[in-house]
Amino acid sequence: MGELLGELTGLVWREDCLACGRVGTPRAAAGVALCRACGLQLRGAPSRVADTASPPVFAAGPYGGAYRGVVLAAKEHLRPDAVQVAGSVLAGTVRHLVARGLVADPRLAPVVLLPAPTTRRAARDRGGCVVQRSAVVAAHDLGGETHVVATATLASGTQDSVGLGRGERQANIASNLRIDEGALRRVRRLLRTPGSVACIVDDVTTTGATVARFATALAARGVVPVVAVVLAQA
Ligand SMILES: [Zn+2]
Repeated sequence: MGELLGELTGLVWREDCLACGRVGTPRAAAGVALCRACGLQLRGAPSRVADTASPPVFAAGPYGGAYRGVVLAAKEHLRPDAVQVAGSVLAGTVRHLVARGLVADPRLAPVVLLPAPTTRRAARDRGGCVVQRSAVVAAHDLGGETHVVATATLASGTQDSVGLGRGERQANIASNLRIDEGALRRVRRLLRTPGSVACIVDDVTTTGATVARFATALAARGVVPVVAVVLAQA
């Protein structure tokens, strides 16, 4: 009996790092098991994604190592703790941009996070859109006047952009983008406050095509995002 209890306790206490799978990672108070190496990696400074014009896109990190681990754990393995980590990483990136004067301080003016569109089916398969859920965590982390407004989805027939060139990706997104006008009205209201900014949020970017096309569609409707923040650049 004592042995069995010992085994069970061991099972409870020893968790695998959600990003790299390292065994024996202690679980933090928030219920997140992240090893020290991955935790350090995820706190790195964001970098600007090359070859994007308007708005500038900043990635928290490269699509590899801990970043890839977190994205896969959230999107493929549907781990809620990975969504928590993704949200914290996004919040850290926004804070970097606040420090550089690119984004308003949410304690002083509204910061409106706009999750990049995904297909409803992808969202349903993943128990809700991962990007949107991460944005909600980020908004909670950032506090103040941070809002998350889902303004768009992609039509269910949208082709996977893997294997498409930048132009083809843009056309693919453009023809399938569905804007929620009601949500957009809410964004416009929030942006009436002086100093407020809109910021697109996404998980992984390759060419920045989705972000660029989404930003164009928003701008045509009177919402101009100043910046886009992604978890990782592939
Ligand atoms: Zn790890």
